[in-house]
Amino acid sequence: MAKVVFEQVSKRYENGFVAVNHLNLDIDDREFLVLVGPSGCGKTTTLRMLAGLEDISAGNILIGNTRVNDVSPKDRDIAMVFQSYALYPHMTVFENMAFSLDLKGIPKAEIRQRVQAAAQQLGIEALLDRKPRQLSGGQRQRVAVGRAIVRNPAVFLMDEPLSNLDAKLRVQARAELSKLHQSLGTTFVYVTHDQVEAMTMGTRIAVMNQGVLQQVDRPERVYEA
Ligand code: ADP
Ligand code: ADP
Repeated sequence: MAKVVFEQVSKRYENGFVAVNHLNLDIDDREFLVLVGPSGCGKTTTLRMLAGLEDISAGNILIGNTRVNDVSPKDRDIAMVFQSYALYPHMTVFENMAFSLDLKGIPKAEIRQRVQAAAQQLGIEALLDRKPRQLSGGQRQRVAVGRAIVRNPAVFLMDEPLSNLDAKLRVQARAELSKLHQSLGTTFVYVTHDQVEAMTMGTRIAVMNQGVLQQVDRPERVYEA
């Protein structure tokens, strides 16, 4: 449970390029906020700053009541699903899901219980002993989501998590992620360039263009007929 606030956040890369320019955005607790816009407009940079994977050049980011500018990624109350899934190839599904909990020093029994519960929720219990290369694309995608769920974060970050699925799977996965959002009752921040995804999944849509936030509103008001 947490809201997320961007206050005048900018990102200037080392080469001088300004990828995000004075971003102001309030994301409500439990919201499914979709950040949408053309390739190169600054969506991933925004998400990576929220995750702590990219330094902020100016401004503030708050998660809940905490200003996280200088908080390391692992100490932020978030989990991120990457477009490429970023599964560890030499680890089993179980180990992939358990890894971040292990690093936190969570007891083995609790880790097993949390991984099993998440696997069940996603229908991947039968896959726990497999390696990523032994999985289909759709199964990998679920494991990536499972690895985030076990962390029990206040905020889920997703960067184009469905763009590597074929069209049919993508429709199914959209519905599943929407359901997951409802059942978890947490805040989702979701990046996509796909308008259909934005429209069907977002409770609100933030439209970016060339590093500038242009509009934040409910889907039906962003995409008027
Ligand atoms: P999006 O996710 O919307 O496609 P990105 O946030 O990935 O956009 O990139 C925004 C802009 O910043 C792009 O023009 C990209 O080329 C540029 N960019 C991304 N990473 C770097 C970097 N490390 N150094 C310089 N420019 C970068
Ligand atoms: P893990 O490496 O398993 O994620 P940590 O909590 O130590 O465990 O996080 C280390 C790095 O992984 C950080 O950069 C963090 O942003 C990133 N990260 C956070 N959540 C996830 C996730 N669900 N899957 C993969 N990497 C994540």
